[in-house]
Amino acid sequence: MRILLLCLMAEFSIMSSALASEKPFSFKDTPGKLPKDVVPTDYAVRIVPDIDKLTFAGTETVKLNVRRRVCQLVLNALELKIEAASIDGNELLRSAIKIDTKNELLTLALPSELPTGEHTLALRFAGIINQQGQGLFYMRYQEQGTGARKTMLGSQFEATDARRFFPCWDEPVFRARFQLTAVVPDNWLAVSNMPVESEDKIAGGKEVRFAATPPMSSYLNVFVAGELESIESRSGPTQLRVIATKGKAEMGRYALQATGQILRYYNDYFGVAYPLPKLDQIALPGGFGGAMENWGGITYYESKLLFDPKSSSEETKQDIYEVLAHEMAHQWFGDLVTMAWWDNLWLNEGFASWMGSKCTAHFNPQWEVWLRREFPRNPSRRAGIAKEAAMESDARSTTHPIQQPVATEAEANSAFDDITYKKGQSFLRMLESFLGDDVFREGIRDYMAAHAYLNTTTADLWNALSDASGKPVGEIAAGWTQQPGFPVVKVKRDQRGDVSLTQERFTVNFTNAPALEWKIPLMYAVVGETPATLLMTRKLDSIHNIPPDRALKLNVNGAGNYRVEYDEASWKLLLEALKNLGVEDRVNLLSDAWSLVQTNRAPIGLYFELVKKLPASTDLAEREQIIYVLDFINRLLGDSSEQEKFQRYARSLLRPTFDAVGWETKPDEKAATANLRASLIAALGNLNDPKVVANCRERFKAFLTNPESLAPDLRPAVFSVVGRYADEKTWNELHQLGLKTTSVEEKQNYYDALAGAIDSKLVKKSLPIALTDELPTSRAVFLVLRVARESGHPDIAWDFARANMKALLAKNDALGANTYAPSLFTFFSHGSRAQELRTYAKNNLPAASAQEVLKALDEIRFRSEFKKRLAPQLDAWIDGKKVADSRRSAVPHH
Ligand SMILES: [Zn+2]
Repeated sequence: MRILLLCLMAEFSIMSSALASEKPFSFKDTPGKLPKDVVPTDYAVRIVPDIDKLTFAGTETVKLNVRRRVCQLVLNALELKIEAASIDGNELLRSAIKIDTKNELLTLALPSELPTGEHTLALRFAGIINQQGQGLFYMRYQEQGTGARKTMLGSQFEATDARRFFPCWDEPVFRARFQLTAVVPDNWLAVSNMPVESEDKIAGGKEVRFAATPPMSSYLNVFVAGELESIESRSGPTQLRVIATKGKAEMGRYALQATGQILRYYNDYFGVAYPLPKLDQIALPGGFGGAMENWGGITYYESKLLFDPKSSSEETKQDIYEVLAHEMAHQWFGDLVTMAWWDNLWLNEGFASWMGSKCTAHFNPQWEVWLRREFPRNPSRRAGIAKEAAMESDARSTTHPIQQPVATEAEANSAFDDITYKKGQSFLRMLESFLGDDVFREGIRDYMAAHAYLNTTTADLWNALSDASGKPVGEIAAGWTQQPGFPVVKVKRDQRGDVSLTQERFTVNFTNAPALEWKIPLMYAVVGETPATLLMTRKLDSIHNIPPDRALKLNVNGAGNYRVEYDEASWKLLLEALKNLGVEDRVNLLSDAWSLVQTNRAPIGLYFELVKKLPASTDLAEREQIIYVLDFINRLLGDSSEQEKFQRYARSLLRPTFDAVGWETKPDEKAATANLRASLIAALGNLNDPKVVANCRERFKAFLTNPESLAPDLRPAVFSVVGRYADEKTWNELHQLGLKTTSVEEKQNYYDALAGAIDSKLVKKSLPIALTDELPTSRAVFLVLRVARESGHPDIAWDFARANMKALLAKNDALGANTYAPSLFTFFSHGSRAQELRTYAKNNLPAASAQEVLKALDEIRFRSEFKKRLAPQLDAWIDGKKVADSRRSAVPHH
């Protein structure tokens, strides 16, 4: 959750069609700190790590193309000691070497003006091996089978950390060829972007020389080394490998097969074959939480890549496929063609998110990929940040446009948020369905062919899509990518068959929001008929000849990034037509109804009346939407007097589905049923369902003596319920299991369960684990957030974090440092905490945290207001339901 200043949008008081459109890529106009007079073309970098001292020594030569005479060279370096520098063989004086730590710049004053043309810079330097995933970092882990404690190395350079590994022009527009050489112990395997070219035994280990990369951005470099092993296959000319720590590579079998399938799909879709000789998928047992698309050497947090059929869940399998498909889409969109500057990060991330989901859905229709993208199914998983979560952030005062100015490193790191990923993804999906799949793909192929090995801006993509479709894509897109927020379309019908449509900005907890308009590619259908499209380009529009007695559904299949608010008559017709709507449309209605409640356009009864009228079903995505809302309300109510009554009501809504699904796998059930079963067990457990809690305890007891008695799909849910209501003995049992296992996935399940314990004595036992080496560093810091969220004791979690902030922040990566403290406040719903955060931020947090602090303050205010508003509405709805079902008819207000 990293967001930037959004000041410029306040100026859009008058919306015309003339949102200033962005220019196509031009090297000299690309933003950045580095002068564009000198361009590096070829790097040769040699690194010698010292694993005991956690330092490294490095040398490099850089071929430069000097385009205008210069007196100094300016490049990036951070946490590096520059020991010597020379230009064209002439050593510079020590006094000519200046490091500006604040701006992360290295300036070399030259003895005389450097003429235009080719020159060679040579540097000798020393750096550090970090604990957290920034630059070169180390990971300590237990080896599979032996349990021995081992250390390995990995790298993480996006957005601005290649400069911690070697001095470089560390802005994406400075594409160059990189040739890496590294010295590692004899029994290590070293991996980089390109295949090994030579390996030579030298004193103290071996020197591994990798082939040079094609021209690419510096942040895409990778270096991983350790006691590793691999499995491999081929796809045409491409060598495919999965690499993991010793004893684990075989668990990469599933990922290796998926890699081949995805590669063939993308080779065809993009119309340009994967250009490198090899593609490595590398599992890291720590360091960072997600995955990184380094060209030819993608790194993954271990449980995002490795699948153990004996102990991994179906959910893990789906997650792996989707993350693979996302990172592999980047090999083209991001690596082969790269955004010119971080203000266009969405080009990388929105596109890879959309493409990854499209590819995953294509090969795995049973997973309901698009539907389940609607809402966060597991907030602890970064890949699971979903469309609904993005729309929730985008409705707030703290949102920002998809494209936003980026000036500093902190701002570049802040750009990796759900707006960039998921709003970008949603917009592309809406655009694809409006232009048509084939036309859209043609546009993408043209774009790839025209910009391979180059950089682009968003305008280049729109131009390609406009040419392919003959439609003004840039004009449609501007409102969605250059302004914040999104619209709600209000639907009003009359008896003559005319439907009037009005658009306005949809906001939550944001009064006096600047009014904005969008060009909305609408898709609508009379229920049961073929959908039609309408590009809504003004505030008011209309549709005609809709039979007044037939239900009308807008945003068909929920493919659009907007809300719809129906008038009373339309809503009633929709409720009557629910059984004729597909699951996509039912999920869309649920999401819209819930959002109208959040923003106080409707009472909670609107949502629950819809839930009540839904036909009985075990459709995963539909039930998960309901679980998501019930879980949100349950946590919001906390241990207030209303909670017990609400829990009883919520259980009554979920029980019938669980009774239909049952505890045991049925031989012919859909794959999605396993997910639903696990979700229902966890949800009913959280809602304190005595039967589910008792059953989980029994199954856990059986698991302790015979692990095979509990199906892998059920383990996370059963452990979480057992952990939630654990006594000290049970907590210790879970802890022992967590300490013992060498599987990162299993370990996470156990520690997640520990973090959920609601007994405050146990909360105080769980938190200090974050300071130990029991979990990989990135996961250890997340434990505190998890306790804050799951235990119902965010106060104890915050007290702990405040007292240990320095140690916790030392384990955070570049993306986490600004968000960590503010995010711990987002679990509070009492106004007094807002003042506490303000004071804490003023005295302790860097300026770069400011926007995160605003977001947390907004969340506290929203929760506090919503809680007050919701409690009496729930009370009335639940009681009203008991007295007379039909008495309450909840409709949106207008
Ligand atoms: Zn990505």
